[in-house]
Amino acid sequence: MLAWRIVGLTLVCGLWALSVNEAQAAEPLKLLIVDGQNNHNWQAMTPLMKGDLEKTGRFKVDVVTSPPAKAEPAAWDAFRPDFAKYDVVLSNYNGQLWPEPVRKSLEAYIVGGGGLVIVHAANNAFPEWPEWNKMIGLGWRDNKFGERVILDDQGALSRILKGDGPGAGHGPQHEYPVEVRDAEHPVMKGMPKLWMHADDELYHGQRGPAENMHILGTAFSSKDKGGTGAHEPMIWWIPYGKGRVFTTVLGHTGGNDLVAIRCVGFITVVARGSEWAATGKVTLPIPADFPTADKVSLVPDAK
Ligand code: ZN
Repeated sequence: MLAWRIVGLTLVCGLWALSVNEAQAAEPLKLLIVDGQNNHNWQAMTPLMKGDLEKTGRFKVDVVTSPPAKAEPAAWDAFRPDFAKYDVVLSNYNGQLWPEPVRKSLEAYIVGGGGLVIVHAANNAFPEWPEWNKMIGLGWRDNKFGERVILDDQGALSRILKGDGPGAGHGPQHEYPVEVRDAEHPVMKGMPKLWMHADDELYHGQRGPAENMHILGTAFSSKDKGGTGAHEPMIWWIPYGKGRVFTTVLGHTGGNDLVAIRCVGFITVVARGSEWAATGKVTLPIPADFPTADKVSLVPDAK
C-alpha cells in the first residue's frame, strides 16, 4: 500500500512539474527598456523596438524613462527602476550618470543572473562607471581609455594596446555586410555567414577592458568609407557574475532616419540576443525574410 502511495505521489509530482515547465515556456519574458537621454532619436526608437519584441510573442515589454538632462535632484531620487522584476533589461540610454543606488542595483541584478542588452549608443554611456565598462567590454571612448579588439579574415583576434591606433569613430553611413563569427552560438545559429545590413553607422575603434568578450559578429570597416581597414566587432557578449551582457553596436537613428532599426537582421539580433541574455537559450527562429549576403531586408513598415 505504501509503495503504491509513493508511486502515485511520484506520478502526480511528475505531472505537476511538467505542467509548470509548459506554463513557463508559454509565459512571455519580462523585458525592461531603459531610455530618457540619448544623442539619438530614442523617442522613435523605443516604441519600434518594443513593438518588434512584442510581435515575436516571446516578450512583455515595459519602458522606464529617466529624467531629462539637467533635471532636479528630486526627479533623480524618484528614478529607481526595479530591475529585479525583469528577465532582461535593454538599454537605449546614453546620457548622464545614473544615481549610485541605480548603478548598484543593476550590478547586483546582473551578478545574480539577470540579462542586459546594449543597443548602439548605449555603449557610449558611463565611461566613469568601472563595472559598466566591464559589462560592455568596449565603449565609445578615446584610444587612451583602453584596449581595442579586431579580427582578421580567418577570425583570429588581435588586441590593440591603449594609445595605439584609432579611438571610437565611424565613417559615413552605408550598407555593409555583417559577418557571423560564431555560427554555433544560439543567437547566430542559422544566419547566413554574411548578411547585408541596412544603411547604418559602422562603429570602429571601440575601447575598454575588453575582458571575456565572445565576439559573435563583425563588419569590415573599409578605408573607402572612412573606416579602419579592420574587421570591427558588431555583436558580442560578456559574462558578468551569473548574468549575461549582450551588445550590438548596430542601430543608429537620427531624426527621421530609422532605416537601420527597420532591418530584419537588426530586429532579429536584438530579439534573439534579448532571449538569450534572459534565458541562455534561443527559441526564436530566423525569419524567412532575413537579409542575404547581398540583399538588405527591411520590415514592411519601414519608411
Ligand atoms: Zn549613431
